[in-house]
Amino acid sequence: MLIDSHTHLDFPEFDSDREAVIASAKSLGVEKFLNPGCNLATSRKAVELANQFPEIYAGVGIHPHDAAEVDAVSLVELTKLASNKKVVAIGEIGLDYFRMRNSKEIQIAAFENQLALAEKLGKPVIIHSREADKDIFECLDKFPNLKGVFHCFGGDWNFAKEVLKRNFYIGITAIVTYPNAQKTHEVAQKIPLEKLLIETDSPFLAPQSRRGKRCNPADVVEVVERIAQLKSIEIDEVATTTVSNTQNLFALE
Ligand SMILES: [Zn+2]
Repeated sequence: MLIDSHTHLDFPEFDSDREAVIASAKSLGVEKFLNPGCNLATSRKAVELANQFPEIYAGVGIHPHDAAEVDAVSLVELTKLASNKKVVAIGEIGLDYFRMRNSKEIQIAAFENQLALAEKLGKPVIIHSREADKDIFECLDKFPNLKGVFHCFGGDWNFAKEVLKRNFYIGITAIVTYPNAQKTHEVAQKIPLEKLLIETDSPFLAPQSRRGKRCNPADVVEVVERIAQLKSIEIDEVATTTVSNTQNLFALE
């Protein structure tokens, strides 16, 4: 069994064949899916999907690209959405200084407000961090009791060590299948299996074999295969341990 710990099955890219995509993933042993939200609209959709499909769990949160949406009203709605028992995380939330659709000040305020919400609700967080290494830890260190994952990890081993020091997990996507992704290869090799989650971030980031096409949750199979190869261990060991990591972090049934 495998779990895709980060997929956007609610995105319009899947509107025409969502059920077939889920069925095809399940036929390859991918049996559970965590669908985070990126703003209020996609958080609502994630919860709807989780209500509709027993194998889908949801995250609710506002991504740094939509950070300006975070205010007293939206935080109340996120709280309401999070009361659904299929909502297992607050996310994806974080800081993105690569695309910079909102100022640093707006992003930091939105991030900290949602970290506070996660703490209040006792939920883990799904973190999106891009070129914001220093600030991300400054914010996180104000909430030392939070658990979570740095999803779609794109940093180097030094950054990974900072993440592990804080007892967070690292989520690896099919970037690990790209031949020139040396930083990610090194992180995959060195990270203790107990701190690793696997994910697709689909519809984005298809593996090398289908690069440029739509990524599907089934592609998490190639992520596991490549990580096993890099670590010189059995695929089964990566599968079993990442499933139990995901179930523990998000308290999945
Ligand atoms: Zn994502």
